[in-house]
Amino acid sequence: MLDYDDHVAVAVSGGKDSLTLLNVLAKLEDRFPRSHLTAISVDEGIDGYRDEALQLARKACHQLDVTQVVVSYRELFGVTTDEIARMKLGQTPCSFCGVFRRKAINKAAAKVGATKIATAHNLDDEVQTVLLNMLHGDPMRIIRSGPVIRDPRGKFLPRIKPLCDIPEKEIVLYAYLNGIEFQSIECPHGHAALRNDIRAFLNQLELKHPGIKFTLQRTAQRLRDTLAEAAPLIELQQCQRCGDPTPHELCEACVMLEAIAA
Ligand code: SF4
Ligand code: ZN
Repeated sequence: MLDYDDHVAVAVSGGKDSLTLLNVLAKLEDRFPRSHLTAISVDEGIDGYRDEALQLARKACHQLDVTQVVVSYRELFGVTTDEIARMKLGQTPCSFCGVFRRKAINKAAAKVGATKIATAHNLDDEVQTVLLNMLHGDPMRIIRSGPVIRDPRGKFLPRIKPLCDIPEKEIVLYAYLNGIEFQSIECPHGHAALRNDIRAFLNQLELKHPGIKFTLQRTAQRLRDTLAEAAPLIELQQCQRCGDPTPHELCEACVMLEAIAA
């Protein structure tokens, strides 16, 4: 996933996964003098939740001597996740929040001159996403995703997920054992997301059939390996509103911003 001279932009929310990843990458960075690390934190504008997480992220960056860049939805998109949630737009706030976060991190990583973006998705996140994509009727998204996402067109920075094979429970354990202080309260908008039902379902399955999450992860990887060649490379154009690469006239974030403005 990593090269000795990478400048890694690591997404740090202040939760256990991202702070664990930051700690591990900071240790690696120490061993590779030509590598570089920048933490990117996103302020979605969620009262009573994000402020504490951002503080913990700031503290960790300070302790590890990692530069932190904070970008906010208010500043980038003119709207916060709390405001979106109040608008009742027919989709969960997470649908908007996830798309905006990807765009915010892409922008910040490009601005600091990163060569890769690292996110702290763990095994549980990954297999939940596989099922989520199936239930949304979007199997090609499974093929395009995975532990390392490289854009052969060179329009997007490579994305890596170094923790993708680590179960969530082991990350919690690592964080506790290493004295990592992380935010443990849940986002107030997360309850409505289908992902929560999938999480409960997978945890129940794992309890009865240990190892089933790893099996699902391997199945998804086999599908990627087998179908990657067959998946057509979608041509990209510039979004007519923001100029970012997109297969359509408008990128997903700009479509959502239009829905918000309507
Ligand atoms: Fe955003 Fe949903 Fe995550 Fe909350 S749970 S931070 S609304 S994606
Ligand atoms: Zn756009």
